[in-house]
Formats: sequence, structure tokens, C-alpha cells
Amino acid sequence: MSDQDDRPRVVIIGGGFAGLFAARALRRAAVQVTLIDQAAHHLFQPLLYQCATGILSEGKITAPLRELLRKHQNVEFALAEVTGIDADRRRVLATRPTGDKTEFGYDYLIVAAGVQQSYFGHDEFARYAPGMKSIEDALVIRRRVFGAFEMAESATKPQERRHWLTFALVGAGPTGVELAGQIREVATKTLRSEYRHIKPEDARVLLFDGGSAPLAPFGPKLSAKASSSLDKLGVEQHMHSIVTQIDGTGLSVRAEDGTETRYDAGTVLWTAGIAAPSVATAIAQATGAKQDRAGRIEVGPDLGIPGHPEILVTGDVMSLNKLPGVAEVAMQTGLYAGRRIRHEVAGRETKPFRYFDLGSAAYLSRGRAVVSVGKLQFAGFPGWVVWLFIHIGFLTGYRNRVGAVLSWWFAFTRDLRRERTFTTKQVGIVRDVYADLPASLAPPGDEH
Ligand SMILES: Cc1cc2nc3c(=O)[nH]c(=O)nc-3n(C[C@H](O)[C@H](O)[C@H](O)COP(=O)(O)OP(=O)(O)OC[C@H]3O[C@@H](n4cnc5c(N)ncnc54)[C@H](O)[C@@H]3O)c2cc1C
Repeated sequence: MSDQDDRPRVVIIGGGFAGLFAARALRRAAVQVTLIDQAAHHLFQPLLYQCATGILSEGKITAPLRELLRKHQNVEFALAEVTGIDADRRRVLATRPTGDKTEFGYDYLIVAAGVQQSYFGHDEFARYAPGMKSIEDALVIRRRVFGAFEMAESATKPQERRHWLTFALVGAGPTGVELAGQIREVATKTLRSEYRHIKPEDARVLLFDGGSAPLAPFGPKLSAKASSSLDKLGVEQHMHSIVTQIDGTGLSVRAEDGTETRYDAGTVLWTAGIAAPSVATAIAQATGAKQDRAGRIEVGPDLGIPGHPEILVTGDVMSLNKLPGVAEVAMQTGLYAGRRIRHEVAGRETKPFRYFDLGSAAYLSRGRAVVSVGKLQFAGFPGWVVWLFIHIGFLTGYRNRVGAVLSWWFAFTRDLRRERTFTTKQVGIVRDVYADLPASLAPPGDEH
């Protein structure tokens, strides 16, 4: 695309499901498109937990954005972090990885920046309890989980061994449930005969949630099935539990009756709560848009910001009719935004956005999943088969699909998890995170 190009300019912020589907919808439109992302890859978030627990490599759940867009001659990609917009001058303000500022002019803007983890006002928990939203998060969790077994193996005191073999997860939504089940499977199957001083199956996995049951949005029947599957896996479920404190040695939890209990845990993972990224607030302030409690930008039925029809908001960062933050909403809103612009440029009208609910799924363990599609509900093995086909179908790129199927074959038939790489330097980071380990837990000769 040249500077003399006089086709309308469309800028897309974010190359997740929403941004990518918007770019695809604009492929043959008479516009020039710039997709900006702070990462060079598109990420399939629903399989992050499999990357974190050693089944899939990071390359199998991501695809380079440039490769995905290579046949879209009217689309270019820019690696930069968007910090805000100048709505009057119609410019997107961004920072390149080198730290210098840059700007992109637009006639239409599609905001598809997703959401990030929320610690409900306790950002200090993040240091001890990583969330799971990005590849970086998944690799940190992989390092923490597999690193904990290593630390337990070389521990000399039973108390320290117990500490490292205790995993606490906060949030019993799909991500927390999937991770909890996977850690028990790692402990009881994958690592079963690999250690000489510990029994990995002794690992305790504690799942905390303020609600009454895991996977509550799936309805009482599937939620009960999920709870019983977690029981069978050996996940200890602590519902009606509000986490009040997390530090380097564990967490404190308040029960419904107000009593506080302290749990010692070597690994704490956070899978509760989402918040819109700061760029959403910057855009809302620049346009006068309203934000909901999580900071998502409220839009009208054409996905436009009231008073700014040239700015469309899509996917997780959009707030419309209480639509859930799921991949299907992101894909459909992304497609709609691209089509609306394509139609407008061609002088055609577009009907308001309508969402077609295709259901939701959560993986529990090998051979067990829950799936809800309209009035149809599947659990156990039938649910798992449906889950498998959905994920094969939606995983981005055919190479990733083939690779994932092969990895699943070995993982499901032979308990093999080949993607367990983490470096000793990263283990060093784990030690750094837990620098304030008290003397009672510190190994002999440890200085701090
Ligand atoms: C662990 C996990 C499991 C999930 N499981 C399921 C599931 O089983 N089924 C389901 O339907 N949904 C699931 N979801 C939700 C689903 O992944 C999201 O709804 C979907 O990814 C949202 O797409 P999006 O394009 O709106 O945002 P994202 O996919 O988050 O993409 C946002 C993009 O914007 C980029 N970005 C953000 N801020 C900036 C900035 N300032 N500058 C430049 N770029 C920026 C990011 O790098 C990212 O690439 C899961 C989510 C997670 C985290």
C-alpha cells in the first residue's frame, strides 16, 4: 500500500479472534487495512491450559499474524502497543517495541483489544498468582507447575515437600476447572513413575471459588457433573470461599460464615475475573463512550460507539446485551464489523448485529468434558468427543490442527506430555518470586 492510496483507511487494534475475523471480512473490500497488535501472533486462548500443562507447544496454539494475513493484499500488520486515540484527528497513538511513539491515521477504527486478568483490586496478588491470558502466562504457569515437582523432589524437609506439592487455583470457571483437572492428571498419570523421592500423585490441588459450584454458568446439571468429575480426579473443591490474601507461601480464604483459613501452597494460580485493558479506558475517554463495571466499552446494535459511528468495538472488550466473553462472540462481532465497513464503503446498509449462540464447552480430563449447545447438553465421553471436534474445527491453521491431533493422540493414549520445557534460569525466577520464603520452608543453607 502506498502513501498515495486514497482508499478509506481501516485500523484494527488487536489480532485475536475479533480482529482477525474483521480483517478477513475486509479482504476484498475497497479499503486499506492496518492491523496493529502488541504480539506478532494470533493466539488460540481456549487451549492455553494445554500449553501450560505440557500437552501442546506454544507454536501449536499460535499462528504468526503475518502468515495468516499474507494473502490479504489490502491488509498490513504493525507490531506496536496502542496507548490511545486522538478521536478528533482520527489517529491511533501507539508505541513501538523500541519505545518510540508512532501514529496511524484512520477513517474507520475497529477496537478488538480483548480483556486482561482482573485481581479485583488486589493487583499485588499477580506477583504470586499468575493469571492465564497470554503465551507468556502459559509458560510462567508451565514453569511453576513442573518446577514445583522438581522443588519437591529435591526438598529435604517433609514440610517443604508438602508445600511444593500443594497447588491452589482461584476461580472455578472453565479455565480454573480445566487447569485443576490437568494438574491432577499430570501428577497421577504423566509424572507417575518419573520421580525417586516423591510420589507425584500425592500432589494436592485445591480449587477455590466464591460461588456455590464449579462451572455455574453451564447450569446445575452440567455443573454437578463437573463437580463429580473433579472429585474423581482428586481436586479438592472449596466453594463459597473468598480469597483475601495471597503471598509467597500460600493464601488465606474467608468462608461463608466469616472464618478465615490459611492454606500453605507452593503454587497459586489465578483464573478469576477479567478487566478491559487500559487502552479501552483511553478510547472511552477520548470518545465519551460508557464503560461497564469491567471497563468494557458499551456499543449500540451496529457495534458503533454512540456519536462515533466510525469506531466499532468487537469481541471481549465490547459490552452489548450482556453477551459473554467467548470466542464465538468475538468471531461473529469481528465479521460483522468488517462487513459493516465493507457495505458502508460500497454505499450499502447493514442490519443490526444479531448473535447466534453456538454453545460452550469445558474440558475436565481425558475422556470427560461438558458441552452445552442450546437445549442439548453433553457430559462425560460424549461431551469430550464434541469438545474434540469443536477444537479441531476452530484451531487456527491446518498445521496446528494436525499437530494438535498428533499431540492429543500421544497424550490421551500414552499419558505423554512432551511440551514440558522450562529452563533452569526460569526456575531461578521461580525462586526469585518466592524470595520471602520463611526459614521454616527454606532449604538448608538458603540465605534468605
Ligand atoms: C484461558 C482461556 C480459555 C478460554 N476458553 C474458551 C473456550 O473454551 N471457549 C470459548 O468460546 N472461549 C474461551 N475463551 C475466551 C476466548 O478466548 C475469548 O473470548 C476470545 O479470545 C476473545 O477474542 P478477542 O479478539 O476479543 O480478544 P483476544 O483474543 O484477547 O485478542 C486481543 C488481541 O489484542 C491485542 N492487544 C490487546 N491490547 C493491545 C494494545 N494496547 N495494543 C495492541 N494490541 C493489543 C492482544 O495482544 C491480542 O492479540 C477462553 C479465554 C481464556 C483466556
